[in-house]
Amino acid sequence: MVEYETFIKDELKKHKIRVHKWGKYDENETYWAYFNSRRVYIPVPECSYSLLLSLHEIGHLVMGNHIYGHIAEYKAEMWAIKTAFEKFNIKNEEYESTGRNYIYENILEDILVRKMEIDEIPKPIMKWVRTTPTKIRKSIIKYKL
Ligand SMILES: [Zn+2]
Repeated sequence: MVEYETFIKDELKKHKIRVHKWGKYDENETYWAYFNSRRVYIPVPECSYSLLLSLHEIGHLVMGNHIYGHIAEYKAEMWAIKTAFEKFNIKNEEYESTGRNYIYENILEDILVRKMEIDEIPKPIMKWVRTTPTKIRKSIIKYKL
């Protein structure tokens, strides 16, 4: 959508971010934010879902990186969701549900790879992902088997 594309281009300019590559929207594709060069690989925003995907990558550069992946993902996600809602009144449940799963996977990775403790996970993230320490412990046991 032209309106979405114009908005994304304005946001890129506003935050001094360059496009490494414009992709075609594909739900199986992995889009990317490059922190060092302030570039993004994003889909052309042709629907609300691809607009949110584009905003998510821009959100990484706006909100900054973090040693824990789940925190960087959460910050980028909240920024994308808030921006899409404020600008276009978009609320996409399917996108948010995918985002919850993605952040949950990042939580497990932070615990298993980066040796993060479960009680280091900020409360608002636990709440948004709709999980509990018990659920996380159960998932970890499965990974370790
Ligand atoms: Zn991300």
